[in-house]
Amino acid sequence: MTIIKNKMERKVSEQLFSEAKNYFPGGVSSPVRAFKSVKGTPLFIKRGKGSQIWDEDDNQFTDFCCSWGPLILGHNNDAIREAIVETVAHGTSFGTPTRWENKLGSLILENNRFIDKLRFVSSGTEAVMSAIRLARGYTGKDKIIKFDGCYHGHFDSLLVQAGSGLATFGVSSSAGIPQSFANETIVLPLDDLGALEETFKLHADKIACVIIEAVPANNGLLLQRQSYLDSLREMCTRYNVLLVFDEVISGLRVGFEGAAGRYNIQPDIMTYGKIMGGGMPVGAYAASHEIMGHVAPDGCVYQAGTLSGNPVAMAAGYTAAKQLLETGFYENLEKTTQGFVANIQGYCDDKGYEVNIRTIASIFWIAFSRKEIRRADQIDAASMEKFKILHSYLLDNGLYLGPSGYEVGFVSAAHTQAELDTAAQKICDGLDLVF
Ligand SMILES: *Cc1c(COP(=O)(O)O)cnc(C)c1O
Repeated sequence: MTIIKNKMERKVSEQLFSEAKNYFPGGVSSPVRAFKSVKGTPLFIKRGKGSQIWDEDDNQFTDFCCSWGPLILGHNNDAIREAIVETVAHGTSFGTPTRWENKLGSLILENNRFIDKLRFVSSGTEAVMSAIRLARGYTGKDKIIKFDGCYHGHFDSLLVQAGSGLATFGVSSSAGIPQSFANETIVLPLDDLGALEETFKLHADKIACVIIEAVPANNGLLLQRQSYLDSLREMCTRYNVLLVFDEVISGLRVGFEGAAGRYNIQPDIMTYGKIMGGGMPVGAYAASHEIMGHVAPDGCVYQAGTLSGNPVAMAAGYTAAKQLLETGFYENLEKTTQGFVANIQGYCDDKGYEVNIRTIASIFWIAFSRKEIRRADQIDAASMEKFKILHSYLLDNGLYLGPSGYEVGFVSAAHTQAELDTAAQKICDGLDLVF
């Protein structure tokens, strides 16, 4: 074991962060960036290329956060950058339809069997918010079901956590959300068909939809059983409740058709974000012709956006999607990721470490437990202390993981085999420190 504990200089990042605290709450534009769940100050990144990023102090890192998921092609992909530059030369925004929306829209729809029509928005949160409104408008019902351990952005009705007892109505998990909103959200545990059936029996006539991350990847990686997801689909149909797959993180990640394709399940409405914009802000919601026909101006569910379908973002998304559709793209990325994970897992097995790396496609999550983890309440909060040690060691040794033990890691197509081998070695060294 080689522990190269070279405490790196972070002077510029530290100075910028102390300045930023005067301008922004917590010094950041999104809370988890503040490094509250790990040690140290956030790094200010100034440049990225491929799998590598550089901070303001010129420290270099192999990045497994990848902007929280969008960068499946790595940083500063040549084709995407060129498409952005070419498009932006004609102007940045017109507030009119543009050819680029047709290009990205048709490419997505032609290569996804589960959707007929979509509407572009500018973030994952906006996609989810609009999808829920559509579900309510389409069914004429108000209540929704979400699962503990799934994240759906910061929309009021979904910043809700379980109250006490089974099938109770939610309690808001943020200040500023009226109790009357939280009352419309029912929170259930994942992997529990009994709780779902009971709730449907009591309330199905008032429930517009069930929303789920079919690959829950925002609170650890809580991989669900195929049989559970199949039953969820069957019960929604039987009780006349719409099924919404929130594919903001899984869409275009676990395959071009996302979790719907992976599990071969037809949801009623789907939401996208992250990868769809090729690193620019794009979200979308999508469904059948029938359901999308209820969206304005065709139908009476209102939803709009000044910068929706922004041509520069559309061009970036289109150029990314083109590359994802190349033969073998997902197979190769998955194989590389699985090899990387197997290296680290093999080391942990030899050493007898309490580690089980959960993984699907090019997503991985280091769980400090050998048990199967399918529900949020099965994650041991105390194990986050272990993650802190690992995170800090890796940061000192040129490897960037998302700054929380509840966040998953992403491998991009730009990570080379040599970079992954080195990274696996560093993670193993870091785990030697933890145990
Ligand atoms: C990231 C994410 C969101 C929120 O998307 P933003 O673009 O951050 O608003 C919603 N749902 C899921 C599943 C996500 O991973």
